[in-house]
Amino acid sequence: MTNTAYPHLLQPLDLGFTTLKNRVMMGSMHTGLEDRFYNYGKLAAFYRERAAGGVGLIVTGGISPNRQGWLLPMGGTLNFLGDVPNHRRVTRAVHEEGGKILLQILHAGRYGYQPFVVSASATKSPISPFKPRALTERGIEATIRAYARCAKLAKMAGYDGVEVMGSEGYLLNQFLCARVNTRSDQWGGPIENRMRLALEVVRRIRDTVGSDFIIMYRHSVLDLVEGGNTWDEVVTVARALEQAGVTILNTGYGWHEARVPTIVTSVPRAAFAGVAGRLRKEVGIPVVASNRINMPHEAETLLARGDADMVSMARPFLADAAFVAKAASGRVDEINTCIGCNQACLDHTFANRRASCLVNPRACHETELVYVKTNTPRRIAVVGAGPAGLSAATVAAERGHQVTLFEASHRIGGQFNVAMQIPGKEEFAETIRYFGRKLETTGVQVALNRRVTREELLAQGFDEVIVATGVRMRKPAIPGIEHPMVLSYLEVLRDKVQVGKRVAIIGAGGIGFDTGEFLLHDPAHPLPQPVSTWTGEWGVDLNVSTPGGLVQPVPAHPYRQLWLLQRKTTRPGAGLGKTSGWVHRAALSRGGVRMMAGVQYDRIDDAGLHITVGGKQQVLEVDNVVICAGQESLDELTAAEAGNGPRFHKIGGAALAAELDAKRAIREGAELAARL
Ligand code: FAD
Ligand code: NAP
Ligand code: SF4
Repeated sequence: MTNTAYPHLLQPLDLGFTTLKNRVMMGSMHTGLEDRFYNYGKLAAFYRERAAGGVGLIVTGGISPNRQGWLLPMGGTLNFLGDVPNHRRVTRAVHEEGGKILLQILHAGRYGYQPFVVSASATKSPISPFKPRALTERGIEATIRAYARCAKLAKMAGYDGVEVMGSEGYLLNQFLCARVNTRSDQWGGPIENRMRLALEVVRRIRDTVGSDFIIMYRHSVLDLVEGGNTWDEVVTVARALEQAGVTILNTGYGWHEARVPTIVTSVPRAAFAGVAGRLRKEVGIPVVASNRINMPHEAETLLARGDADMVSMARPFLADAAFVAKAASGRVDEINTCIGCNQACLDHTFANRRASCLVNPRACHETELVYVKTNTPRRIAVVGAGPAGLSAATVAAERGHQVTLFEASHRIGGQFNVAMQIPGKEEFAETIRYFGRKLETTGVQVALNRRVTREELLAQGFDEVIVATGVRMRKPAIPGIEHPMVLSYLEVLRDKVQVGKRVAIIGAGGIGFDTGEFLLHDPAHPLPQPVSTWTGEWGVDLNVSTPGGLVQPVPAHPYRQLWLLQRKTTRPGAGLGKTSGWVHRAALSRGGVRMMAGVQYDRIDDAGLHITVGGKQQVLEVDNVVICAGQESLDELTAAEAGNGPRFHKIGGAALAAELDAKRAIREGAELAARL
């Protein structure tokens, strides 16, 4: 597996007692499968595909060393012999494919969403309703023993090592920082005391497992919360961990309660790699860079620059199990890139649902969504090359069907061509690139600029027709809606018509928020945002010259004055993604956008937009009103019965416009094509 394009990435890493075949690590992700014993077959299949895809090292989702450490009630735990056989299924699958795997030991501390939570001090976290009990000295000793027992069982189960989770604000991080640790005994006070628990955990694990077992420690190098550690403290802890027996130092950025985004799509690629680079100069063991690294080029560049010895990518392995194999064989254009949307992974995890991936619905469903070669190839027409149609066409062709894809416009991608115009959503272009290449490799015949009719489809004698024609915009019945100041979001985002400086946006769904971000952005500033601009806007100091690396944010000057309106009385943006919605709300708030709920639209005329809110009439004196009021299905093909002709199937927006997103569109396309 060698490719001169990525010499650093594909170089083995010799750890003395064992060698990793390359510098790529699949970082820990909670899939939801690890919490129930009956899902371990599915979990093993998930990891097997990633190991077969060539990744050098895999880290499992977080497994708790005891009940107090659960993230959720009855969360995945490894604390007695009876748990070992389940884990053996996972390690066997990975080893059979030539991979290596670590078990992540995660004690959630006060982040646990369950009543047994403990922490350094009895300080409730803002993200769990359960107030923790401060661990007693005996409780601390029992916790250390639990970590060591968990590592011992992991070794028995065949793992190649463990990762001790010490970042993102979990228990060990809580002890490390004065933000939570207000103890006055030997476990609190100066950093030498606050780091005692982390060090004892590592020493006790090392004593238990011996020297030929990887201990990775995920160290919080940038807490991004008030009361976080200083750079000197970060380095002191790292050096002490090395002395205590850690083999590899992974890096972590931001507590879960931090108000700075660290992984959503608007965070620039590899934004934090330089911090790992600074740490690497302070220790003698391999250091791993992490967060928003999603393509081989960024990974190779940061390794070549000396920022790290390994690169951790987590979500990119949900998006594409064969990431490394494709990079190694010169097929980087075939990589299905993680676009950082969080919609099917973290948003699912936080809703206690099984994780998957928006761009790859097979993720965590490897045994259920299977693309079997067909014995009865058929002629299939797919109409519409948006996410739904692209997904259906490529899966059907991969299975051996003869597929023709008709698209009315001059390019594939559907609404993703519009989504990628939004500042911070540039990654959406990667999905179009991926599908474009996949159409070539699977041999789909693509007919662009072809708005097909039902008659044409019937005349061509297809066996199956998949209607993926998407949606049309909803035009609300507001008096004056035909006024020249009224624009649709497509005119603004796709056609780039001129927009005035004062704008009212009707509709505060995902597209209303996106349109807001587009209109706030000064077109003179480059996109994607350079790291320095992004850190300035969010108040991040990558030199960590302040505790936690927080400084005063310097918001960009808003390019326009905006009003974002909705009829519902709920908080605008309440329906956005759980793990990304707050970032969009914060971005618009920083831009001074006035968000109004409970709005009644009275009329639009030369004076502006007339509204009534809370019984009071007012006029928003704006230059333009932009309509983002949702969509309706576009289906002009399946209106009448098919008779003896082909079978018609509807997917994506064509099937149902309500609550449509690309996750559903791509999944429906893949599921249908897997059945045909
Ligand atoms: P579409 O993408 O609408 O594709 C339909 C295609 O069919 C079009 O290319 C059209 O030209 C073609 N077509 C129509 N009629 C015919 C015909 N008769 N013959 C041939 N071709 C035809 N979703 C998310 O999940 N996350 C996001 O963050 C997100 N952000 C968005 C931001 C913006 C600004 C926009 C506009 C959308 C966003 N979406 C997002 C929504 C997402 O893009 C849609 O849910 C998704 O594209 C729907 O896929 P689809 O294939 O059903 O339809
Ligand atoms: P949406 O989320 O359904 O929002 C539509 C908005 O229009 C709502 O604010 C609604 O609020 C308003 N509206 C509906 N009917 C109206 C009417 N007759 N008159 C005036 N206002 C009306 O749809 P969208 O924003 O168009 O997004 C489409 C899909 O793309 C969504 O399902 C979303 O998941 C996806 N998307 C996701 C993201 C993301 O970041 N995850 C981003 C963009 C798009 P009221 O009814 O209260 O007025
Ligand atoms: Fe990446 Fe989105 Fe897939 Fe999650 S759902 S892995 S963020 S593309």
